[in-house]
Amino acid sequence: MSRTAIVDWARGVYEDLDFTAARQWLADHPGRHACGYLPVYAPREVIHAAGMLPVGIHGSGDIEIIRGDAFYQSYICHLPRSVVELAQSGRLDMLSAVLFPSTCDVIRNLSGMWQILFPQMYVRYLDLPQVADPQMGAEFWRRELDVVRRELGRVAGIEVTDERLRASVALYNEVRGVIRGLYALRGAKPWQVPTEELYLLMRAGEVVGPEKFLEMARAYAAAAESDDQRVRDRTRVIITGSFCEQPPLGLIKTIERAGCYIVDDDFLAGNRFLTGDVPLDGDPLSALAEGLVRGAVKTSVLYEPDPEGKRNLMKNRVAAAKADGVIFAAASFCDPALLDRPMLREGAEKAGIPCIAFKFAENSGQFQQFREQAGTFSDSIKLWGDA
Ligand code: SF4
Repeated sequence: MSRTAIVDWARGVYEDLDFTAARQWLADHPGRHACGYLPVYAPREVIHAAGMLPVGIHGSGDIEIIRGDAFYQSYICHLPRSVVELAQSGRLDMLSAVLFPSTCDVIRNLSGMWQILFPQMYVRYLDLPQVADPQMGAEFWRRELDVVRRELGRVAGIEVTDERLRASVALYNEVRGVIRGLYALRGAKPWQVPTEELYLLMRAGEVVGPEKFLEMARAYAAAAESDDQRVRDRTRVIITGSFCEQPPLGLIKTIERAGCYIVDDDFLAGNRFLTGDVPLDGDPLSALAEGLVRGAVKTSVLYEPDPEGKRNLMKNRVAAAKADGVIFAAASFCDPALLDRPMLREGAEKAGIPCIAFKFAENSGQFQQFREQAGTFSDSIKLWGDA
Protein backbone atom coordinates (compact mmCIF):
# COMPACT_ATOMS: atom_id res chain seq x y z
CA MET A 1 0.00 0.00 0.00
CA SER A 2 1.42 3.39 -0.91
CA ARG A 3 2.16 6.04 1.66
CA THR A 4 -0.51 8.29 0.13
CA ALA A 5 -3.11 5.53 0.34
CA ILE A 6 -2.28 4.89 4.02
CA VAL A 7 -2.52 8.58 4.89
CA ASP A 8 -5.80 8.90 2.96
CA TRP A 9 -7.17 5.90 4.82
CA ALA A 10 -6.12 7.38 8.18
CA ARG A 11 -7.61 10.76 7.28
CA GLY A 12 -10.89 9.05 6.40
CA VAL A 13 -11.01 7.32 9.79
CA TYR A 14 -10.07 10.55 11.60
CA GLU A 15 -12.73 12.62 9.85
CA ASP A 16 -15.50 10.07 10.26
CA LEU A 17 -17.50 11.25 13.26
CA ASP A 18 -19.87 8.27 12.93
CA PHE A 19 -17.05 5.87 13.88
CA THR A 20 -17.86 3.68 10.89
CA ALA A 21 -14.62 1.70 11.35
CA ALA A 22 -15.69 0.68 14.85
CA ARG A 23 -19.21 -0.15 13.68
CA GLN A 24 -17.79 -2.23 10.84
CA TRP A 25 -15.55 -4.08 13.30
CA LEU A 26 -18.60 -4.94 15.40
CA ALA A 27 -20.46 -6.12 12.30
CA ASP A 28 -17.47 -8.29 11.37
CA HIS A 29 -17.23 -9.74 14.90
CA PRO A 30 -20.77 -10.75 15.89
CA GLY A 31 -21.30 -11.03 19.62
CA ARG A 32 -18.29 -8.87 20.44
CA HIS A 33 -18.41 -5.41 22.04
CA ALA A 34 -16.66 -2.05 21.92
CA CYS A 35 -15.35 -0.15 24.94
CA GLY A 36 -14.56 3.55 24.78
CA TYR A 37 -11.97 5.36 26.85
CA LEU A 38 -11.29 9.02 27.52
CA PRO A 39 -7.81 10.56 27.57
CA VAL A 40 -5.17 10.32 28.76
CA TYR A 41 -4.27 6.76 29.78
CA ALA A 42 -6.50 3.71 29.90
CA PRO A 43 -5.29 0.09 30.02
CA ARG A 44 -6.31 -0.94 26.53
CA GLU A 45 -4.74 -4.36 27.10
CA VAL A 46 -7.54 -5.23 29.53
CA ILE A 47 -10.23 -4.03 27.10
CA HIS A 48 -8.67 -6.07 24.31
CA ALA A 49 -8.31 -9.14 26.54
CA ALA A 50 -12.07 -8.99 27.12
CA GLY A 51 -12.49 -9.44 23.38
CA MET A 52 -13.63 -5.82 23.01
CA LEU A 53 -12.60 -3.15 20.54
CA PRO A 54 -10.90 -0.25 22.37
CA VAL A 55 -12.18 3.05 21.00
CA GLY A 56 -10.47 6.32 21.94
CA ILE A 57 -12.93 9.16 22.57
CA HIS A 58 -11.07 12.40 21.91
CA GLY A 59 -13.91 14.77 21.11
CA SER A 60 -13.88 16.69 17.87
CA GLY A 61 -13.53 20.24 16.73
CA ASP A 62 -15.57 19.50 13.61
CA ILE A 63 -18.91 18.87 15.23
CA GLU A 64 -21.47 21.58 15.83
CA ILE A 65 -22.16 21.82 19.55
CA ILE A 66 -25.91 21.97 20.14
CA ARG A 67 -26.52 19.87 23.23
CA GLY A 68 -23.00 19.76 24.68
CA ASP A 69 -22.97 23.40 25.80
CA ALA A 70 -26.03 22.88 28.00
CA PHE A 71 -23.99 20.64 30.29
CA TYR A 72 -21.08 22.97 30.95
CA GLN A 73 -20.20 26.43 32.08
CA SER A 74 -18.27 28.57 29.63
CA TYR A 75 -14.91 28.54 31.41
CA ILE A 76 -13.79 24.97 30.89
CA CYS A 77 -12.06 23.26 27.98
CA HIS A 78 -13.90 22.25 24.83
CA LEU A 79 -13.38 18.48 24.89
CA PRO A 80 -16.25 17.49 27.22
CA ARG A 81 -18.73 19.52 25.14
CA SER A 82 -17.89 17.70 21.95
CA VAL A 83 -17.79 14.35 23.75
CA VAL A 84 -21.29 14.96 25.14
CA GLU A 85 -22.41 16.12 21.69
CA LEU A 86 -21.04 12.97 20.05
CA ALA A 87 -22.80 10.85 22.65
CA GLN A 88 -26.10 12.75 22.68
CA SER A 89 -26.32 12.58 18.90
CA GLY A 90 -26.05 8.77 19.02
CA ARG A 91 -22.60 8.60 17.44
CA LEU A 92 -21.21 6.59 20.35
CA ASP A 93 -24.19 4.27 20.73
CA MET A 94 -22.15 1.28 19.55
CA LEU A 95 -20.20 1.32 22.83
CA SER A 96 -21.08 -1.11 25.60
CA ALA A 97 -18.70 0.40 28.14
CA VAL A 98 -16.64 3.55 28.69
CA LEU A 99 -13.61 4.06 30.95
CA PHE A 100 -12.90 7.51 32.39
CA PRO A 101 -9.35 7.90 33.70
CA SER A 102 -8.67 10.31 36.55
CA THR A 103 -7.07 12.85 34.24
CA CYS A 104 -8.75 15.89 35.79
CA ASP A 105 -11.98 17.07 37.43
CA VAL A 106 -13.62 17.63 34.04
CA ILE A 107 -13.27 14.00 33.02
CA ARG A 108 -14.27 12.81 36.49
CA ASN A 109 -17.46 14.86 36.28
CA LEU A 110 -18.08 13.63 32.76
CA SER A 111 -18.09 10.06 34.08
CA GLY A 112 -20.91 11.00 36.47
CA MET A 113 -22.91 12.62 33.68
CA TRP A 114 -22.42 9.55 31.54
CA GLN A 115 -23.87 7.31 34.23
CA ILE A 116 -26.98 9.49 34.36
CA LEU A 117 -27.34 9.92 30.59
CA PHE A 118 -26.56 6.35 29.54
CA PRO A 119 -27.51 4.03 32.41
CA GLN A 120 -27.42 1.04 30.06
CA MET A 121 -23.70 1.50 29.45
CA TYR A 122 -21.00 0.20 31.80
CA VAL A 123 -19.04 3.17 33.16
CA ARG A 124 -15.89 3.03 35.26
CA TYR A 125 -13.95 5.92 36.71
CA LEU A 126 -10.32 4.78 36.77
CA ASP A 127 -8.46 6.15 39.73
CA LEU A 128 -4.85 6.18 38.55
CA PRO A 129 -2.32 5.94 41.39
CA GLN A 130 -0.93 9.33 42.44
CA VAL A 131 1.39 8.38 45.30
CA ALA A 132 5.08 8.73 46.02
CA ASP A 133 5.45 5.10 47.13
CA PRO A 134 5.65 2.98 43.94
CA GLN A 135 4.92 -0.29 45.73
CA MET A 136 1.73 1.06 47.25
CA GLY A 137 0.79 2.60 43.90
CA ALA A 138 1.35 -0.66 42.04
CA GLU A 139 -0.70 -2.66 44.53
CA PHE A 140 -3.53 -0.14 44.32
CA TRP A 141 -3.51 -0.02 40.51
CA ARG A 142 -3.38 -3.81 40.24
CA ARG A 143 -6.55 -4.00 42.33
CA GLU A 144 -8.21 -1.43 40.07
CA LEU A 145 -7.16 -3.39 36.98
CA ASP A 146 -8.55 -6.56 38.50
CA VAL A 147 -11.94 -4.89 38.97
CA VAL A 148 -11.88 -3.69 35.35
CA ARG A 149 -10.86 -7.17 34.19
CA ARG A 150 -13.82 -8.79 35.97
CA GLU A 151 -16.38 -6.16 35.07
CA LEU A 152 -15.45 -5.86 31.39
CA GLY A 153 -15.43 -9.65 31.28
CA ARG A 154 -18.98 -9.61 32.60
CA VAL A 155 -20.08 -7.05 29.99
CA ALA A 156 -18.37 -9.02 27.22
CA GLY A 157 -19.45 -12.45 28.46
CA ILE A 158 -15.81 -13.56 28.38
CA GLU A 159 -13.57 -14.73 31.21
CA VAL A 160 -10.49 -12.53 31.02
CA THR A 161 -7.85 -15.11 31.85
CA ASP A 162 -4.16 -14.45 32.43
CA GLU A 163 -3.47 -16.07 29.05
CA ARG A 164 -5.78 -13.64 27.29
CA LEU A 165 -4.19 -10.75 29.16
CA ARG A 166 -0.66 -11.86 28.25
CA ALA A 167 -1.61 -12.10 24.58
CA SER A 168 -3.07 -8.57 24.68
CA VAL A 169 -0.05 -7.21 26.55
CA ALA A 170 2.21 -8.78 23.90
CA LEU A 171 0.14 -7.16 21.14
CA TYR A 172 0.27 -3.74 22.77
CA ASN A 173 4.01 -4.12 23.34
CA GLU A 174 4.20 -4.42 19.55
CA VAL A 175 2.01 -1.33 19.15
CA ARG A 176 4.22 0.64 21.53
CA GLY A 177 7.31 -0.61 19.71
CA VAL A 178 6.04 0.48 16.30
CA ILE A 179 5.05 3.89 17.67
CA ARG A 180 8.44 4.31 19.35
CA GLY A 181 10.03 3.44 16.00
CA LEU A 182 7.94 5.99 14.14
CA TYR A 183 8.69 8.69 16.69
CA ALA A 184 12.39 7.84 16.51
CA LEU A 185 12.33 8.02 12.72
CA ARG A 186 10.57 11.36 12.83
CA GLY A 187 13.09 12.64 15.40
CA ALA A 188 16.01 11.58 13.21
CA LYS A 189 14.49 12.54 9.84
CA PRO A 190 11.46 14.75 10.38
CA TRP A 191 11.27 15.51 6.66
CA GLN A 192 10.47 11.80 6.11
CA VAL A 193 7.65 11.69 8.68
CA PRO A 194 5.55 14.87 8.65
CA THR A 195 3.71 15.17 11.95
CA GLU A 196 0.44 15.71 10.12
CA GLU A 197 0.75 12.19 8.68
CA LEU A 198 1.98 10.60 11.90
CA TYR A 199 -0.85 12.24 13.82
CA LEU A 200 -3.50 11.00 11.39
CA LEU A 201 -2.13 7.48 11.64
CA MET A 202 -2.22 7.61 15.42
CA ARG A 203 -5.77 8.97 15.42
CA ALA A 204 -6.89 6.14 13.16
CA GLY A 205 -5.26 3.74 15.61
CA GLU A 206 -7.64 4.97 18.29
CA VAL A 207 -10.59 3.51 16.40
CA VAL A 208 -9.53 0.54 14.28
CA GLY A 209 -8.05 -1.80 16.88
CA PRO A 210 -4.43 -2.77 17.44
CA GLU A 211 -4.20 -5.47 14.76
CA LYS A 212 -5.26 -3.15 11.94
CA PHE A 213 -3.18 -0.31 13.35
CA LEU A 214 -0.07 -2.48 13.38
CA GLU A 215 -0.62 -3.50 9.75
CA MET A 216 -1.03 0.11 8.60
CA ALA A 217 1.66 1.60 10.84
CA ARG A 218 4.26 -0.93 9.68
CA ALA A 219 3.38 -0.26 6.07
CA TYR A 220 3.65 3.47 6.69
CA ALA A 221 7.00 3.10 8.48
CA ALA A 222 8.42 1.08 5.56
CA ALA A 223 7.18 3.68 3.07
CA ALA A 224 8.47 6.61 5.13
CA GLU A 225 11.93 5.01 5.46
CA SER A 226 12.34 4.48 1.75
CA ASP A 227 10.48 7.43 0.30
CA ASP A 228 13.14 10.18 0.18
CA GLN A 229 11.72 13.63 0.81
CA ARG A 230 13.44 16.98 0.40
CA VAL A 231 15.21 18.25 3.54
CA ARG A 232 14.08 21.77 4.37
CA ASP A 233 15.68 24.49 6.46
CA ARG A 234 13.39 24.27 9.45
CA THR A 235 13.67 24.61 13.20
CA ARG A 236 13.29 21.52 15.37
CA VAL A 237 10.61 22.05 18.00
CA ILE A 238 8.83 20.12 20.73
CA ILE A 239 5.10 20.66 21.22
CA THR A 240 3.95 20.07 24.76
CA GLY A 241 0.70 20.48 26.69
CA SER A 242 -1.64 18.84 24.16
CA PHE A 243 -1.93 15.50 25.91
CA CYS A 244 -5.73 15.53 26.33
CA GLU A 245 -7.85 17.83 24.17
CA GLN A 246 -6.27 17.57 20.76
CA PRO A 247 -5.31 20.53 18.60
CA PRO A 248 -7.13 20.81 15.28
CA LEU A 249 -5.21 19.20 12.44
CA GLY A 250 -4.95 22.64 10.86
CA LEU A 251 -2.88 23.85 13.80
CA ILE A 252 -0.37 21.01 13.42
CA LYS A 253 -0.11 21.72 9.69
CA THR A 254 0.26 25.43 10.37
CA ILE A 255 3.18 24.93 12.75
CA GLU A 256 4.94 22.69 10.24
CA ARG A 257 4.33 25.09 7.36
CA ALA A 258 5.51 28.04 9.45
CA GLY A 259 9.02 26.56 9.33
CA CYS A 260 9.10 24.02 12.17
CA TYR A 261 9.88 20.34 12.24
CA ILE A 262 7.96 18.87 15.17
CA VAL A 263 10.44 16.34 16.59
CA ASP A 264 8.56 15.42 19.77
CA ASP A 265 5.04 15.98 21.06
CA ASP A 266 2.53 14.70 23.55
CA PHE A 267 -0.45 14.35 21.22
CA LEU A 268 -2.53 11.26 22.10
CA ALA A 269 -0.12 10.68 24.96
CA GLY A 270 -1.87 7.52 26.14
CA ASN A 271 -0.13 5.64 23.35
CA ARG A 272 3.28 6.40 24.84
CA PHE A 273 2.27 6.50 28.49
CA LEU A 274 4.14 3.27 29.27
CA THR A 275 7.66 3.91 28.11
CA GLY A 276 8.87 0.32 27.91
CA ASP A 277 7.64 -3.15 27.12
CA VAL A 278 5.46 -4.79 29.76
CA PRO A 279 6.98 -8.15 30.81
CA LEU A 280 5.09 -11.22 29.63
CA ASP A 281 6.08 -13.55 32.47
CA GLY A 282 4.41 -13.65 35.88
CA ASP A 283 1.12 -12.01 36.76
CA PRO A 284 0.03 -9.81 33.81
CA LEU A 285 -1.95 -7.35 35.94
CA SER A 286 1.04 -6.81 38.25
CA ALA A 287 3.23 -6.31 35.19
CA LEU A 288 0.83 -3.69 33.82
CA ALA A 289 0.63 -1.98 37.21
CA GLU A 290 4.42 -1.91 37.59
CA GLY A 291 4.70 -0.65 34.03
CA LEU A 292 2.56 2.35 34.92
CA VAL A 293 3.97 3.11 38.34
CA ARG A 294 7.65 2.69 37.47
CA GLY A 295 7.72 3.30 33.75
CA ALA A 296 5.17 6.00 32.93
CA VAL A 297 6.12 8.99 30.88
CA LYS A 298 6.58 12.26 32.80
CA THR A 299 3.34 14.16 32.35
CA SER A 300 1.16 16.77 33.96
CA VAL A 301 -1.54 14.23 34.79
CA LEU A 302 0.68 12.13 37.06
CA TYR A 303 2.15 13.06 40.42
CA GLU A 304 5.84 13.95 40.19
CA PRO A 305 7.66 13.09 43.43
CA ASP A 306 10.93 14.82 42.50
CA PRO A 307 10.52 18.57 43.18
CA GLU A 308 13.06 19.33 40.46
CA GLY A 309 11.53 16.81 38.08
CA LYS A 310 9.22 19.27 36.35
CA ARG A 311 11.83 22.01 36.17
CA ASN A 312 14.22 19.64 34.40
CA LEU A 313 11.63 17.97 32.22
CA MET A 314 11.84 20.19 29.16
CA LYS A 315 15.64 20.38 29.32
CA ASN A 316 15.76 16.58 29.26
CA ARG A 317 13.19 16.30 26.48
CA VAL A 318 14.95 18.93 24.38
CA ALA A 319 18.26 17.12 24.80
CA ALA A 320 16.71 13.75 23.89
CA ALA A 321 14.98 15.16 20.80
CA LYS A 322 17.88 17.44 19.81
CA ALA A 323 15.31 20.21 19.61
CA ASP A 324 15.97 23.92 19.16
CA GLY A 325 12.95 25.16 21.10
CA VAL A 326 9.69 24.38 22.83
CA ILE A 327 6.15 25.37 21.90
CA PHE A 328 3.79 25.17 24.87
CA ALA A 329 0.42 24.51 23.26
CA ALA A 330 -2.34 23.71 25.71
CA ALA A 331 -6.09 23.62 25.38
CA SER A 332 -7.77 26.73 26.80
CA PHE A 333 -8.84 26.16 30.42
CA CYS A 334 -6.86 22.92 30.67
CA ASP A 335 -5.90 22.93 34.35
CA PRO A 336 -3.26 20.16 34.31
CA ALA A 337 -1.38 21.70 31.37
CA LEU A 338 -1.72 25.34 32.35
CA LEU A 339 -0.89 24.85 36.03
CA ASP A 340 2.32 23.03 35.08
CA ARG A 341 3.30 25.45 32.35
CA PRO A 342 5.03 28.12 34.50
CA MET A 343 7.27 25.53 36.15
CA LEU A 344 8.06 23.75 32.89
CA ARG A 345 8.74 27.00 31.09
CA GLU A 346 10.89 28.42 33.88
CA GLY A 347 13.03 25.26 33.81
CA ALA A 348 13.37 25.42 30.03
CA GLU A 349 14.25 29.11 29.95
CA LYS A 350 16.78 28.74 32.76
CA ALA A 351 18.45 26.14 30.58
CA GLY A 352 18.57 28.68 27.73
CA ILE A 353 15.91 26.98 25.64
CA PRO A 354 13.78 29.31 23.48
CA CYS A 355 10.06 28.94 24.21
CA ILE A 356 6.75 30.30 23.06
CA ALA A 357 3.30 29.53 24.40
CA PHE A 358 -0.24 29.66 23.16
CA LYS A 359 -3.63 28.19 23.85
CA PHE A 360 -5.98 26.56 21.41
CA ALA A 361 -9.37 24.87 21.35
CA GLU A 362 -10.10 21.75 19.35
CA ASN A 363 -12.51 23.84 17.28
CA SER A 364 -10.10 26.72 16.61
CA GLY A 365 -10.59 27.65 12.98
CA GLN A 366 -8.28 30.61 12.53
CA PHE A 367 -4.62 29.78 12.34
CA GLN A 368 -3.08 33.06 11.24
CA GLN A 369 -1.94 34.06 14.73
CA PHE A 370 -0.36 30.63 15.28
CA ARG A 371 1.38 30.84 11.89
CA GLU A 372 2.85 34.22 12.75
CA GLN A 373 3.92 33.14 16.23
CA ALA A 374 5.48 29.85 15.10
CA GLY A 375 7.04 31.45 12.01
CA THR A 376 8.63 34.27 14.01
CA PHE A 377 9.80 31.77 16.62
CA SER A 378 11.43 29.61 13.98
CA ASP A 379 13.06 32.57 12.25
CA SER A 380 14.40 34.02 15.49
CA ILE A 381 16.00 30.70 16.43
CA LYS A 382 17.61 30.47 12.99
CA LEU A 383 18.89 34.05 13.20
CA TRP A 384 19.97 34.28 16.83
CA GLY A 385 19.96 30.75 18.25
CA ASP A 386 22.57 28.02 18.00
CA ALA A 387 20.55 26.25 15.30
S1 SF4 B 1 -8.24 19.29 28.19
FE1 SF4 B 1 -7.37 19.47 30.24
S2 SF4 B 1 -9.01 20.22 31.56
FE2 SF4 B 1 -9.95 19.47 29.64
S3 SF4 B 1 -10.53 17.38 30.07
FE3 SF4 B 1 -8.49 17.32 29.24
S4 SF4 B 1 -7.04 17.41 30.96
FE4 SF4 B 1 -9.07 18.00 31.67
